Amino acid sequence: PLYNIIYVCFRSKLYMADLESGLHYLLRVELATHKTLEGAELKTFKDFVTISAKLFPGRPPVVKLLETLQEWLVSLPLDKIPYDAILDLISGIFLTKRVQWVGCQGSRAELRGYTCSLWKLFHTLTVQAALQPKVSQPLTKQGLPAVRYIQHFFGCKACAQHFEEMAKESMDSVKTLEKAVLWLWEKHNVVNNRLAGDLSEDPKFPKVQWPTPDLCPACHEEIKGLHSWNEDQVLQFMKNHYNSENILYKYTE
Ligand code: FAD
Repeated sequence: PLYNIIYVCFRSKLYMADLESGLHYLLRVELATHKTLEGAELKTFKDFVTISAKLFPGRPPVVKLLETLQEWLVSLPLDKIPYDAILDLISGIFLTKRVQWVGCQGSRAELRGYTCSLWKLFHTLTVQAALQPKVSQPLTKQGLPAVRYIQHFFGCKACAQHFEEMAKESMDSVKTLEKAVLWLWEKHNVVNNRLAGDLSEDPKFPKVQWPTPDLCPACHEEIKGLHSWNEDQVLQFMKNHYNSENILYKYTE
């Protein structure tokens, strides 16, 4: 029915408001809990900004902000940077007026929001890296930026620990940019599976193995009566879904 098609279309969209709000929250709220950045944290933050400046498919002012931040971080000869100095630099530059969740809006205020946008941000960056191997190959040598950011900065410590355990088990086997897309997709589904039915689940957005058959029928196969993923199709779907061309800039409030 038409209603079903419209619903599927709405869910399959990726909104720039979520990605920019995620970045905004990351830079203004999550990072602010670290008064000084140094050592491995500083390195991770620099790498995250470098990759984002090159690959985040944002609007020109946002990309400009990331480039300015990157140039500033690279040119500073300091091995310790106070967060206030980062704040001074980013507060003069327009990122987003306020945090605005659209595709990540929960049915209650405490549900979804930032963590949803963080997943989307990292899937987007990982897919952009696979789509632009020449730009990203030198930048991703030290592993997935998502993994390193989450290790050092993600405010949900229990989440970071679970994620770190999964990364330890299998990150080393990820040898290509495309495998990195599939690795993050698969781990996100492991988290979805673990959280299905949990208190943190939004009843309006049940945790499912993603993409569901209505979003990507070709991603699902049955082999000897058992469900199996067609990973070539999943990769194609990820490349389309987290593509800059699938990002919507307009939404109705
Ligand atoms: P999310 O899981 O946040 O997904 C956001 C969107 O991504 C979905 O709406 C869908 O469009 C898309 N998506 C879904 N699955 C996939 C996939 N496999 N690949 C690509 N795209 C997909 N919460 C806890 O309570 N405990 C935890 O241990 C925990 N660990 C986390 C670890 C990490 C690294 C992150 C980023 C978050 C973690 N969270 C955890 C938060 C949790 O995963 C959800 O973000 C939160 O419950 C909000 O869920 P959501 O319905 O918005 O969907």
